[in-house]
Amino acid sequence: MDDRPLERGRAWIEVELNALAHNLSDIRSKIPVGCQIMAIVKANAYGHGVKRIAEQMVKEGIEAYAVATVTEGIELREHVPEGSILVLGRTPPDDAKWLFNNKLSQLVMDGAYAKSLNETGYKLNIHIAIDTGMHRLGMEPSNLDEIKSIYDYDNLIIEGIGTHLSSPDSLTKSDVDFTNQQIEKLTEVVNVLKEKGHNTGKLHAQSSYGIYNYPGLKFDYVRPGIMMYGVKSLDDETKIKTDLRPVLSLKAVISQVRWIEAGESVSYGRMYTTGKPAKIATVGIGYADGLPRQMSNNGGKAIVKGRKVPIIGRICMDMLMLNVTEIQHVEAGDIVTLIGKDGDEVIHCEDIAGAANTITNDVLSGLSGRLPRIYI
Ligand SMILES: *Cc1c(COP(=O)(O)O)cnc(C)c1O
Repeated sequence: MDDRPLERGRAWIEVELNALAHNLSDIRSKIPVGCQIMAIVKANAYGHGVKRIAEQMVKEGIEAYAVATVTEGIELREHVPEGSILVLGRTPPDDAKWLFNNKLSQLVMDGAYAKSLNETGYKLNIHIAIDTGMHRLGMEPSNLDEIKSIYDYDNLIIEGIGTHLSSPDSLTKSDVDFTNQQIEKLTEVVNVLKEKGHNTGKLHAQSSYGIYNYPGLKFDYVRPGIMMYGVKSLDDETKIKTDLRPVLSLKAVISQVRWIEAGESVSYGRMYTTGKPAKIATVGIGYADGLPRQMSNNGGKAIVKGRKVPIIGRICMDMLMLNVTEIQHVEAGDIVTLIGKDGDEVIHCEDIAGAANTITNDVLSGLSGRLPRIYI
């Protein structure tokens, strides 16, 4: 064993691989027969550490994956020897050899890009992106000639076609109508292509909320990200009920505990002032670890010795302060839970996202490389 400082010495992430396995089987039980999971493991598997997450997914029989970049694809290929890996972002044609050598599939968003990939001379697997209303990547369904042209290139092997839904999380009538239109547009394009004799391959549209709220759709793949990790993007209502368990916990160690007088301020900018004498604990985790600075003075909490206490004052780069006046025995070296369970208390990643005015996808993918990932 190599000798280095304690993994649980300052701040760390705990990843429960059993929870991931449980979530995958829960998702599988809720999608139509014949539909497969394309596991989204971009951004270091949403901060969980792509190596161990991918190894577990392979064990659970996941055969399709997607990442954001060619570099993520190359890294993932080391842990996924057989499965398909789709690169969702634009890989420069000059990097086509990396796609080819690592058997990565590339998402193709327009005819010009298809042409330039074809001209590289590498035989490449691709999926076609249709823009049905998100207006991020893809071709308008009305540009049928452009879409069809892609099927004629000798070097491009078309594995599938998909779209991305812009508001599958919303259950308001206008958003539901819009989403149904997106689904219809994709279905229509695919039907036309099939009539013209093209093999369109695998069809896919649903990210996590597409699975939650459009469970009747029978496409070939679903593309869950956040839900595999056992959390929602926010604490919102969904059509189907799931039994998902958070995979990740975030913990840190108290550096110092001390009393300060009434009327004293805490941290940068003196945003927090004590009303009465207060016991303050300084904790070794900050925004450089990915804990959002925006949740300073916005209801952020932590758990110490099984009790919830408030984060007070501004979160610093590497530290934050808690008001632990109500806790009798607390000292340097004690463990603080920022996300996860301690005793009867729990802080959900959704709570952090809410306090930071963002979504859990942002919080988890922002957890920094400085935090050791510990797998249990
Ligand atoms: C990130 C992403 C997903 C997964 O989204 P979640 O909301 O995390 O489930 C699916 N499809 C595409 C194209 C994506 O970019």
